[in-house]
Amino acid sequence: MIRLKGIGVSGGVGIGKALVIRKDELRVPKRKVSHVEISREIYRLEEALIETRREISNLQKKIATEIGFDHGRIFEAHYLVLEDRVLIEDVITQIKNKRVNVEYAFSQSIEKYVSTLLKLNDEYLKERVIDIEDIARRVLRKMLKEATTSLSDLKEKVIIVAHDLAPSQTASLPKDKILGFITDIGGRTSHTAIIARSLRIPAVVGVEVATENIEFGSKIIIDGSSGTVVVSPTDKSLKEYQKKLTIYTKEIKAIHIPKKLKACTKDGKEVIISANIELPEELPLVKQYGAEGIGLYRTEYIFLGRRDLPSEEEQFKAYSKVVKDISPHPVVFRTIDIGGDKFLSQPQVPREMSPFLGWRAIRFCLARPEIFKTQLRAILRASVDGIVEIMFPMISGIGELREAKNILSECKKELSAEGLGFDENISVGTMIEVPSAALTADDLAKESDFFSIGTNDLIQYSLAVDRANEKVAYLYEPGHPAVLRLIKSVIEAAHKNNTPVSMCGEMSSYPMFAFFLLGIGLDQFSMAPPQVPKIKELINNINYKDAHRTVKKTLALSTPREVEKYLQKELKKILTEECYHMLMI
Ligand code: PEP
Ligand code: MG
Repeated sequence: MIRLKGIGVSGGVGIGKALVIRKDELRVPKRKVSHVEISREIYRLEEALIETRREISNLQKKIATEIGFDHGRIFEAHYLVLEDRVLIEDVITQIKNKRVNVEYAFSQSIEKYVSTLLKLNDEYLKERVIDIEDIARRVLRKMLKEATTSLSDLKEKVIIVAHDLAPSQTASLPKDKILGFITDIGGRTSHTAIIARSLRIPAVVGVEVATENIEFGSKIIIDGSSGTVVVSPTDKSLKEYQKKLTIYTKEIKAIHIPKKLKACTKDGKEVIISANIELPEELPLVKQYGAEGIGLYRTEYIFLGRRDLPSEEEQFKAYSKVVKDISPHPVVFRTIDIGGDKFLSQPQVPREMSPFLGWRAIRFCLARPEIFKTQLRAILRASVDGIVEIMFPMISGIGELREAKNILSECKKELSAEGLGFDENISVGTMIEVPSAALTADDLAKESDFFSIGTNDLIQYSLAVDRANEKVAYLYEPGHPAVLRLIKSVIEAAHKNNTPVSMCGEMSSYPMFAFFLLGIGLDQFSMAPPQVPKIKELINNINYKDAHRTVKKTLALSTPREVEKYLQKELKKILTEECYHMLMI
């Protein structure tokens, strides 16, 4: 038995088999084959190609039905490779002339193929290299009889163990088959953690040595609350965690989902509690957990995991479905936020030294107005189907906000000229996630219909702590006095200009911080749907005046630890024991 420690980012216990996705390449053996073995090797090549074609075709169908977008074309290049006679003849020639095994011959031919493409001065062909490498790995796994880690095709329930998961992988996972996520890297607000919490799947990130220590198919336990992973558990620890799992399941069932949609303190202060969503699967959860609309729709997930860009029509259909579903409540569309730890595979996005400080979010959109405009037009068109609001991510100053708004105005003019309808008075908000935006909030508030504080980023940029780096995760503290003071000044500057303020960062879903945020006047909280009942329960069971009373003292404290201890102590005083316990699960 081995016990590994990481960062518990999504609570709960999972017990099951490990599906390990290693970062390293497949090891291809080189063997001499005899004259009589040649025809068998050629047969193995054909068999692997046919099986892979079948696998791709199934995957294609599955993605089309499950994700609901037209992802079919992702696989065009895969088919081209599988049917390329020149490549296939080259492999056969090698087997015959060099007398080598098929895996080796195939990997040599692919290497030649790739290096030829890379030498050509053709961007499109260069981009196909990723597809060719992907298909080559699939074919090789068939030859080597290794199970492919095609995540969308899982037959049994598993705990996923990976170095990291690309957002495109997480997006296409069959969520009902996942008992947990374990990754080597990552922090509380990296994308895997966010998705895991949204879907209520236990997750431990930043384990560093998980893929090194966990074998494919071995029995493991994940405890997402304490950040523990147990590999090959003894009977004793298995029993212990089975008990924990039963208790956790009971507690989750007991979480009370308030019937009333509005959250209101005992002394009459109403606040809106809305949901953050990334994927279409989360839509039913928004209602199920009683959220008042969508306060953050991370639209970039539609752009991930595909080679082409979604057209205006495709985006319009997807957005309109969300808007209709959530109506009469509003949907806040956050325009594409790629970069950071979310990358497009398509439009020549270079790898950067510091992606979180680089070509990300609004910077990318302003530099690629054709992509930006296509999205804005689709969002505007969807606004006739309900209440739509737009917000721009990672604004660092008023110049970027003005530029983005100008592009939005151009889109409105175009749509009017084309006779297409949209909400003329659509609200436009600014995300406050960069310290320079927080410090100039008074100026930004004058030109914004609302603010949404993105603490996941605001914390990383204020404290200089990469949100996805497990090595510095201990410094990632929402309760840091610098963060609290910055947030307070943003809310004050906004309110002076009558601009309402929402928070869509993870911080708003921690009961103790929600208590503080209510006290400093936050108007709206937005969080992963499963977190909504807790925060609503909190708001419904406290007085605004108590939350407000604790603000001064909280802001005078000098360490995050003191802040947390104080807020928890205050909550314990105010709430019943049962309510306090439920909030702390
Ligand atoms: C944030 O930064 O707090 C936020 C909500 O945006 P994201 O997590 O998508 O960067
Ligand atoms: Mg952000």
